[in-house]
Amino acid sequence: ARKFFVGGNWKCNGSKQSVQELCEAFNAGKNIDFNRVEVVVAPPSVYAMLTRSILRPDFGVALQNCWVGKPGAFTGEVAVEMIRDIGLSHVILGHSERRHLPEIRESDDVIGRKTKYAIDKGVHVILCIGELLEEREAGRTREVNERQLSAVRAHLSADDWAKVVIAYEPVWAIGTGKVATAAQAQEAHSEIRSWIRRQVSEACASQMRILYGGSVTPENCLELAAQPDVDGFLVGGASLKPTFLDIVRAYQ
Ligand code: 13P
Repeated sequence: ARKFFVGGNWKCNGSKQSVQELCEAFNAGKNIDFNRVEVVVAPPSVYAMLTRSILRPDFGVALQNCWVGKPGAFTGEVAVEMIRDIGLSHVILGHSERRHLPEIRESDDVIGRKTKYAIDKGVHVILCIGELLEEREAGRTREVNERQLSAVRAHLSADDWAKVVIAYEPVWAIGTGKVATAAQAQEAHSEIRSWIRRQVSEACASQMRILYGGSVTPENCLELAAQPDVDGFLVGGASLKPTFLDIVRAYQ
């Protein structure tokens, strides 16, 4: 059985004070069996050390992005080596905001290279994929997901995939309140798992955690979590509140 995984992506939100308050609320959370659920929160990088120092060790901490290679003359970037140095476990890569915002426009290939570099340095990757509304309406969801996965596969060995968690985040569902239906999520997740089965291995496919992201709330998470190929969530807005822990408890 796959261990349930819930990530909280705080995006570009917060302050020293709000980070402290949220971490204290999470630390006070009751009735969570960390043997059955892995929980990782991703603060803005300037608050990562503060987050790590306050949160109890049951919680993992991630960055939301990293540089593509070793440290050096790369103004404004944060290297994977630094993520390890401050005791973080994961990095989110390929988030749709980094793929699609015109100010960023990260390519499929750069996301693949970043994924490989992070894994080689021992940092686990939460790899985000997903289609735009016009791509879904054109019936291209599967093709887009597979294109984004293939660009990562070009850089990874079969063993590397054991350090990856996939987050399927349809772009039309992110921050819109328009959550995918349980059937839409299940269909995409099962296509993704079948791609892994064909392109990596049967063992990797059966172990891969595939998270759903996009307007997940404490109210809608249980129906999604009941789907056979939904192994957890990547939560944006709802991870900025203490009730994020109600989504974490969806494994029950
Ligand atoms: P929302 O939960 O705010 O829709 O964001 C989802 C997301 O992008 C998580 O990475």
